[in-house]
Amino acid sequence: MKLYFETSNFPWQPERYRYAAEQMMLTLFPEERPEYPEKPLPKDMSGETNAAVFTLHRGKKLTNVSALVFRLRGWHNGVTRFPSEKLDETPEEVYHTVQHALKLAFYKAGTALLGTEPPWGALTGVRPVKLPTRALLAGSTPKQAREELEKEYRVSRSRAALAVDCAKASVEAGRSLKSGEISLYIGVPFCPTRCVYCSFVSADVGRTFKLVEPYVEGLLREVEETGRVLRELGLTVRSFYMGGGTPTTLSASQLDRLLSQCEESLPLEGCAEYTVEAGRPDTITREKLEVLKAHGVGRISINPQTLEDHVLEAIGRRHSAGDIRAAYGLARETGFGCVNMDLIAGLPRDSFEGFCRSLEGVLDMGPENITVHTLALKRGSRLMEEGGQLPDGTQVLRMLDFSGDRLKERGYLSYYLYRQKYMSGALENVGWSRPGRESLYNIVMMEELHTVVSLGAGGVTKLVGGGKILRLANPKFPQEYLSGLDKVLGQKREIEAFYRQ
Ligand code: SF4
Repeated sequence: MKLYFETSNFPWQPERYRYAAEQMMLTLFPEERPEYPEKPLPKDMSGETNAAVFTLHRGKKLTNVSALVFRLRGWHNGVTRFPSEKLDETPEEVYHTVQHALKLAFYKAGTALLGTEPPWGALTGVRPVKLPTRALLAGSTPKQAREELEKEYRVSRSRAALAVDCAKASVEAGRSLKSGEISLYIGVPFCPTRCVYCSFVSADVGRTFKLVEPYVEGLLREVEETGRVLRELGLTVRSFYMGGGTPTTLSASQLDRLLSQCEESLPLEGCAEYTVEAGRPDTITREKLEVLKAHGVGRISINPQTLEDHVLEAIGRRHSAGDIRAAYGLARETGFGCVNMDLIAGLPRDSFEGFCRSLEGVLDMGPENITVHTLALKRGSRLMEEGGQLPDGTQVLRMLDFSGDRLKERGYLSYYLYRQKYMSGALENVGWSRPGRESLYNIVMMEELHTVVSLGAGGVTKLVGGGKILRLANPKFPQEYLSGLDKVLGQKREIEAFYRQ
């Protein structure tokens, strides 16, 4: 889609708003990619079939931002107005006002041409809960926070309510955090096989077996160095999360060594939540679960994604729904009192009925947390490259709406959510929990409530403080991580520098 930014009677530096325009274009027309024509806007646009023209006009009292959108044989002009005095505020505030107005103008024109509105309206970011959280913290009631989403951002009633429920959980989690507390993540990027929708750095362990042991050795060193830095700074770990990949791809003795090192080095004395993902049932054994239990792990994740055997096969899993039930039973027998299970709506060869059966099956098992994801088609995944028979956006919306209703009926509350690019139906991923069993890590990580230090390949540390967020990324792939380990260890000094400031 051609995107034109017109000059204006206000120096609005239109190139700053390209990202906002692209985000809205992807929300409304996901199949499009942006083009910025070098030639000026043609005088005669009558033959145009795929373009958007943005203008800003500052009037005495009101400023108009308009988006004239041409699509197939139609066109529509969307306009947003705001008081002109807003253009005299700080550059950051002006940017915020104009980009919101531009997105909304584009949204009005685009949805008029499409004849339909997406469930998240004009919201394009991955963290839609931040807005209502800010509103609640500023003194709005939940009803006012919901109405702001509906009116200002055209979010549907159901999604606005979902976001406000998660915002309430975020506010509560934020209030429980004490200064000097952080969360800690360890990534284990290995899985028994690669799922067709996965674009993650995770490597199929069959092909990378020889890397696993050196990787564990590398992690032991990083854990030790991180522990030294955290202790020197007087920081303590409030929530611990080992994810991946599938950490239980490691052997029982590798898990034992890694968790022993964590206990020895990390300031875990005040750790309130200790999670290890045991996502794939084909990696779970009694011995490994006993190792986790012996090290105080209290929460694990067993992720079926579906309980339909033909769908498991279509996504590249080498196990059955029966194996998932057996792994869940084993986790309960071993004494795990908090289990999360993930489901995905929109998987290849799945259907509305199949998804509902999977949800009911998971509800019957009765985990404390259930996370309902929407399939996202990601670059680098086999599904993106090879294609597959996928349920359409309307069916996925039905699946998510059904899951929301059923989970509420069964006493679960939504407590965190996020969105990703290229999701079926432009929907969301939602974490549901039995009251009081919410995962603190998921909330703090998603809402960026405090520092999360990440270890291992692909780990991105986010240092949060003083109104700033500083990101420190580890190398993405296990091989790069190992060859760059000295640099990874050296980078811990930046954590010190950040906190010493
Ligand atoms: S279990 Fe997760 S990380 Fe592993 S291959 Fe499947 S989607 Fe990727």
